[in-house]
Amino acid sequence: MEDDNIEKLGEDVERVGFGPRYNGKNSLKGRKIKILDSTLREGEQFPGCSFTNSQRVQIAWTLDFLGVDAIEISPIISRQHMEACKKIVQAGLNATIVAHGRALRKDLDQALECGVSFAAMYHSVSDIHLKYKLRVSREEALSRTLDAVDYAKAHGLQVRVTLEDASRADPQYVVAFAKELERAHVDRISLPDTVGVMTPSGMYSLIKRVKDGVKVPLDVHCHNDMGLALANSIAGLEAGAEQVHVTANGLGERVGIADLAQTSLVLRVLYNADVNIRFNMLFEIARLVEEYTSIPVPKSAPLVGGNAYKHKAGTHVAAVLRNPKTYELVPPKVVGNRRRLVFGGLLGKTGAEFLLKMFGIEAETETKKLVSGLKDLGIDLFELELTEEMEELLKKEQDVLNKVG
Ligand SMILES: [Zn+2]
Repeated sequence: MEDDNIEKLGEDVERVGFGPRYNGKNSLKGRKIKILDSTLREGEQFPGCSFTNSQRVQIAWTLDFLGVDAIEISPIISRQHMEACKKIVQAGLNATIVAHGRALRKDLDQALECGVSFAAMYHSVSDIHLKYKLRVSREEALSRTLDAVDYAKAHGLQVRVTLEDASRADPQYVVAFAKELERAHVDRISLPDTVGVMTPSGMYSLIKRVKDGVKVPLDVHCHNDMGLALANSIAGLEAGAEQVHVTANGLGERVGIADLAQTSLVLRVLYNADVNIRFNMLFEIARLVEEYTSIPVPKSAPLVGGNAYKHKAGTHVAAVLRNPKTYELVPPKVVGNRRRLVFGGLLGKTGAEFLLKMFGIEAETETKKLVSGLKDLGIDLFELELTEEMEELLKKEQDVLNKVG
């Protein structure tokens, strides 16, 4: 009954029902979307997050095996970061290693020292940042950036320029800036929503406006200050951006950016976009980064959180036992997570029967006793994580349950 094949999830009519009819036109279907993971750069800016060098290398290996298109790291932060960047470059991964720094020759020198072929430089473009953060004019911001781009190009680097705080900058200035960058042969331009001021339609408009002005491939990078990072990132991709920035567990400055697991799954399952990563490693990556950072993955985190596949209400448990699609859009196996059932005061007859059957008890009176006993206790007594063997038992049960019910 349950199909774990991700290729077919979005087209499984029983699973998605009439949902896609409401979702309507989908410009991302079949489109190749590149995933840049910035756990080692943006992620380390999350308060309390830092990695050792062996952890940085391990994360890069794991992300590469997962299949992300690019891995971003900032060698300019410290000597250790520089060493980690060198090691990751030497590892010969498939992913493009992007060295992140300011639009300064000295930062580019460090990127070159690491042996990367791709450098990302950032420069603020909003008036508030130019006035209070950098104390330079718009003209100076542009000329500084162009100088750094020329320097990078003269040294054979591929270059991405991030127009920091683009979402709060004068749109005419942003487009004019992007056109100058195109003339200077930059390879990518990243448009971030640095403080989370955008709505999805706003992010769409920003990306569309720049896309209409230049042919340079665009990146979208959205911060989650208002909880819209994922929605805004998707809107940016719909408007024509080709690469999305994510981190494991959504880590990043303040409250972070779009999450790797959510972004890739939404793109693959809901939009049917071409995102070829090993989805069944997503749970493992979330736990690896949780372990290295000691920053817990919230139980409420979609897909990889502890509650993502936990069913509690008696009616839900009964329905999931009959057919998991009743309350799960994406099967837990797809992301490497597991299904869990809560046995407590809300458990109904079907759930109690299933529990007793696992102990080899099949008696109506015992079931009734268990249900009323749990009700009297009124607490969540325990949770059962369904192992492979239990899932097998469940499959057999489903046939019986569906014949009866
Ligand atoms: Zn950022």
